[in-house]
Amino acid sequence: MMSQSNSEYDPIHYSKKAIGPPPAHYTCYRCGKNGHYIKHCPMQMDKSVEAPKPIRTSKGIPQSFMVKAEPGTKGAMLTSTGEYAIPAIDAVIV
Ligand SMILES: [Zn+2]
Repeated sequence: MMSQSNSEYDPIHYSKKAIGPPPAHYTCYRCGKNGHYIKHCPMQMDKSVEAPKPIRTSKGIPQSFMVKAEPGTKGAMLTSTGEYAIPAIDAVIV
């Protein structure tokens, strides 16, 4: 007669995994630092790093309505030709 012993079964081990700092040898391969899991990596928040500034494009605006402008000009948008331009309407106002 064997009685099933579940003495080793501890619900605590199954209820949830321990959440804590990763082991010392763990290295976040996103930023190369340790002390956090990759999913906790602060770098992960910086998806905009690749594109620091959201660049407005002149998509949808006819080229003829665009006036070439220096990069950094207020309202300047990147055209399909890789040049900066501002809508002629804005240029008139300015
Ligand atoms: Zn990291």
